[in-house]
Amino acid sequence: MAMTEKQGGSDLRQTRTTARQAGDLWLLDGHKWFFSVPQSDLFLTLARSGRGISCFLAQGWRDDGSRNGLFIQRLKDKCGNRSNASAEVEFRGLEARLVGEEGRGIATILEMAHLTRLDCAISAGAIMRQALTQAIHHTSHRSAFGRRLIEQPLMQAVLADLALDSEAFLWSGLRLAATQGGDDEAEHLLGRLVIPMGKYLACKRTPAFVAEAMECHGGNGFVEPHPLARLYREAPLNGIWEGSGNVVCLDVLRAARNAPESLGLWLDETRKARGASREFDRALADFEPLLRDLDTAEPRARLIVERMARLFQAGLLLRHAPDTVAHAFCRARLGPHHGQDYGATSGIGPAARILERAAVGPMQG
Ligand SMILES: Cc1cc2nc3c(=O)[nH]c(=O)nc-3n(C[C@H](O)[C@H](O)[C@H](O)COP(=O)(O)OP(=O)(O)OC[C@H]3O[C@@H](n4cnc5c(N)ncnc54)[C@H](O)[C@@H]3O)c2cc1C
Repeated sequence: MAMTEKQGGSDLRQTRTTARQAGDLWLLDGHKWFFSVPQSDLFLTLARSGRGISCFLAQGWRDDGSRNGLFIQRLKDKCGNRSNASAEVEFRGLEARLVGEEGRGIATILEMAHLTRLDCAISAGAIMRQALTQAIHHTSHRSAFGRRLIEQPLMQAVLADLALDSEAFLWSGLRLAATQGGDDEAEHLLGRLVIPMGKYLACKRTPAFVAEAMECHGGNGFVEPHPLARLYREAPLNGIWEGSGNVVCLDVLRAARNAPESLGLWLDETRKARGASREFDRALADFEPLLRDLDTAEPRARLIVERMARLFQAGLLLRHAPDTVAHAFCRARLGPHHGQDYGATSGIGPAARILERAAVGPMQG
């Protein structure tokens, strides 16, 4: 997808690239500030035509093998995500085909962005899982002060807290994906709300999660050959592209306002876990008043979306995960006894059992 221009990535209404019709094709002229995989065979893009901003599909190469009117000006030198080429490009008479209705291009291209937001939520969860696996492995084999690190009570609290988030993001990622799995209209409506919601929280937690997993390794986690260095550089990216944090939170509010049924579906699904945990019941009851008056909710959007996402995860864990994990999650994420950082909790419960579940293979020294 080539959407982002200099004057605005989030605000696609500012698109300046132009499109003029030439028979069955359209010819596009303009500039894109970020365009990953510019060597792709096919890509979607936006340009301004007679009726407004429209969506187009372009080939990287024409049928006769010649390069389409696409000129790479520069590859970006990025702080991470280096094996993905991201470019600044110019379109000079780029041949393309109109996709969807002319003038409805933003809505059309966002159908794809909705799915790439799901990718972001899932891949953020995968980055957390890999970081956790590395941290459990390292602390299972490293000893300090007479015991393996994984046996030190405070390290256990940190690792178990990370494991709770890793499991919660796995369950919620799978549930988000399930909304897109068939033709059920209610599931798609729920997905319209929970996919940006899930993207927001997963992407927000990843940098802090990876930094904590890196710290579990001590200095060994901070050297380039270690996989953690790459995860650390990658960690903030999912929160930036495909709708940055604020943008996806505002999108959740928009979905809730434009299709209140989606909010009803979120409530129905979340309420299924009522009665299973005191912390959960209390947190849900405290949260519901925040949903009133969505028209003035913009400054509170992050708070609303974060709580929605945590309650959604807690509901899934209470219904599907072992009690040890679900109740520890409710205490640590919804109860009052949790500070800001991983491991800053007094109520995580049986950390060793949580870690046994999270470990890949036995935790032997
Ligand atoms: C590695 C990488 C690869 C990329 N690849 C592509 C690609 O292939 N194709 C493509 O089209 N783009 C690509 N992008 C661009 C990316 O999608 C944009 O950077 C992103 O959408 C944000 O747009 P922007 O950079 O213009 O920031 P802006 O739109 O200027 O946003 C800056 C900040 O303001 C916040 N903000 C915006 N509007 C509001 C509001 N109303 N209220 C409160 N806060 C707001 C945003 O959340 C963000 O935090 C890529 C970016 C990166 C880093």
